Amino acid sequence: MSKNRDSAGRSSDSAVLAYRKIPLTTFNDFGLAEPILRALVEENYTTPTPIQAQTIPIVLTGKDVIGIAQTGTGKTASFALPILNHIFTKRLRPERKSCRVLVLSPTRELSGQIADSFRAYGRHMKPLAIELAIGGVPINRQIRGVAHGVEVLVATPGRLLDLVHQRAITLNQVEILVLDEADRMLDMGFINDIRKVVAMLRKERQTLFFSATMPGEITKLADSMLTNPEKVAVTPQASTVDRIEQRVILTEKSAKNDLLVETLKTETTDRVLVFTRTKHGADKVVRHLQKCGFGAEAIHGNKSQNQRERVLADFRSGKLRILIATDIAARGIDVDGVSHVVNYDLPNIPESYVHRIGRTARAGRDGVAISFCDHEEAAFLRDIQRMIRITIPSIDKRTGIRPAARPADHHQASNRPNRGRGAAGNNGGNGGNRNGGNNRNGGGNRNGSNQGRTSNRGSQGGNPPIPRAESTPGEPNSIGSVTFLQRGGNRTPRAS
Ligand code: AMP
Repeated sequence: MSKNRDSAGRSSDSAVLAYRKIPLTTFNDFGLAEPILRALVEENYTTPTPIQAQTIPIVLTGKDVIGIAQTGTGKTASFALPILNHIFTKRLRPERKSCRVLVLSPTRELSGQIADSFRAYGRHMKPLAIELAIGGVPINRQIRGVAHGVEVLVATPGRLLDLVHQRAITLNQVEILVLDEADRMLDMGFINDIRKVVAMLRKERQTLFFSATMPGEITKLADSMLTNPEKVAVTPQASTVDRIEQRVILTEKSAKNDLLVETLKTETTDRVLVFTRTKHGADKVVRHLQKCGFGAEAIHGNKSQNQRERVLADFRSGKLRILIATDIAARGIDVDGVSHVVNYDLPNIPESYVHRIGRTARAGRDGVAISFCDHEEAAFLRDIQRMIRITIPSIDKRTGIRPAARPADHHQASNRPNRGRGAAGNNGGNGGNRNGGNNRNGGGNRNGSNQGRTSNRGSQGGNPPIPRAESTPGEPNSIGSVTFLQRGGNRTPRAS
């Protein structure tokens, strides 16, 4: 949206600059309308997250925004709050079969969560019509839903185009367009649909463009959609969420099921999200876990919308503790309290690793991400580590030998500060740790005696064999008793 375009009186770069000079520490500082502030109090939001502190003032001035932020950073509110404020201050009756705000998101789940957020933050604003246009459910209710016009339409691209083709909606009244998770839209092949949608919009609009990463093609898309955008970024491009403790277990492919069971038995878990590469693989893992007495369910593209919603609701409520998902199905999972992400299969796209582990450590909490890596996935691990510039602490469950450090990793890892997760610095100081003690995810071993053993061996230099108390090669041993690094001292292992 250009500076002169906004008839609600929002404008001028000077307003943005003025905002930037003032540290914004509470939501009151933004000048949001009272009904929105009231809803935020009820949501227990006291402090804006970094993406919110940066984005909200800019959106309020009517400027276009490119936001580089992952899910879990509070980015939904960073666009939803100023949009609701715009709707509140510029009261207009939406025309029939039209929407004032269009939010495009890649998955049904994410779309549902965005619509829920708008409803929650806008609960004291009346009238306020928010509709969802997603596939997998009958279209007729959605046609009726937009018939009288709505303030906010949250849609996946395919279903939106279906509605357009059925003449259920026209898009020429859209004042604000939000494109969420643009990089995932690209991965999922939605780019042409998005271009078609954008071609139907009027030029005088505000566009808010969010992506976790900015590969070249996404930059090109943004350039074609945005006018003089302000760029905000809450994490460096494709960096890994800071509060996540990451670990890798090198294992045989055939041992992964047992390793998962061991992990669930020895880790202190709350909610666990397990990623597999395929839908079939997800179902197989569910069957194995159920056979071993764990309550687990899968969510993937072959499940009906109803099944997916039920499983997600159970996971959210805590009734279901272990959820197995494929990348696409998990994209929009916004569940606070996911304590562990387990990569049963490593993703072949490094960005997917960042997206996956971003399901934990949400809303200011910590989280653990454990990745199983078999022989065929070694190259994926290398690509991931190169991208996140961290050597993830690993143990080798096949041979008991730590993999040899690669100079590039060592160099990169050693440039990063130790985030104080425990005793890794000790190991590094003794010269035996391949991460030089600077791996930010290195941490205190839950087993004090093992920690000592690891350090002693480290002092002898080189890449020491990891003590393997109870395993033989190819056979999973107890995760908790070897080198696993745990935040916050000793925790009592608990079975799920
Ligand atoms: P998002 O990145 O939008 O998916 O948000 C991640 C989670 O953080 C959601 O559960 C939000 O409800 C929560 N959240 C967003 N903003 C805040 C805030 N300022 N204070 C506390 N929680 C928040």
